[in-house]
Amino acid sequence: MDLPVIFHPDYVAFLPEGHRFPMAKFKLLYELLLADGIAQSGQFYTPEYPSQELIELIHVPEYVQAYCEGTLEPKAQRRIGLPWSSALANRTCIAVGGTVLAAQLGLKKGIACNTAGGTHHAFPSYGSGFCIFNDLAIACRVLQKQELVKKILIVDLDVHQGDGTAFIFQDDESVFTFSMHCEVNFPGRKQRSDLDVPLPVGMEDDEYLQTLGTYLPDLLSQVKPDIVLYDAGVDPHIGDKLGKLALTDIGIYRREMQVLSTCIANGYPVACVIGGGYADDMKSLVYRHSLLHRAASQVYQQYGL
Ligand SMILES: [Zn+2]
Repeated sequence: MDLPVIFHPDYVAFLPEGHRFPMAKFKLLYELLLADGIAQSGQFYTPEYPSQELIELIHVPEYVQAYCEGTLEPKAQRRIGLPWSSALANRTCIAVGGTVLAAQLGLKKGIACNTAGGTHHAFPSYGSGFCIFNDLAIACRVLQKQELVKKILIVDLDVHQGDGTAFIFQDDESVFTFSMHCEVNFPGRKQRSDLDVPLPVGMEDDEYLQTLGTYLPDLLSQVKPDIVLYDAGVDPHIGDKLGKLALTDIGIYRREMQVLSTCIANGYPVACVIGGGYADDMKSLVYRHSLLHRAASQVYQQYGL
């Protein structure tokens, strides 16, 4: 058996020329995983389009409807930072479906990885920072509603604080939110996660991994989640345009091995999303994202999942 990987051709939607969101990366990641033999075509799962009802497990119906129909106020649309199109609305929904599927498969198989997802800046009634619907939060609610899990741990290592997710679950003891992020980065106004670990600008591999190592094992034994949702944003990389930390490719790979091995060795299943990553050099960026799938594949084999 091999690592389940989730991809849908509609993960890529057209954006105007020169837009700074690297939309092309999702399909290029899929192609790189195939080309490098990290995943064979038989390992890929295609997500279903989620119902509006499912998205409304987290988001207010007026927002979901206005976004999907393209009738959001211009100010709300600008806060998202992506120009509306029906293709982008479709892409937003199918990526949510992908994270839900990753969570379901992760629970069943031990690990599963989406090739998109991690839209952690989305709040119940508005989107921000390239995030429209909060896939992580929706996946939590779907698993709980299906009575597949009770307790969930979100490990958010994207360089930006998972403010939307923190807000959504602030009074909910069934979902523990852990965010390790650069302290002086977007969002300007932080929310309170169950555990926030703000990091100073310029932090490098060893210090970063040591910091992670001082929190993650204890957190797992304290929370004892039925599943871990892992946002593996690669924007802590030194080459990232929006990052401000200084991890290398090797550091990112070691991070993914550390998170996945720690979870799996202690019996906790994991569902992974790729999170943020911003660079003009698309090839380097896509390689960075693929480190998650390389590590997941390695851990999957190593532990005989
Ligand atoms: Zn980010």
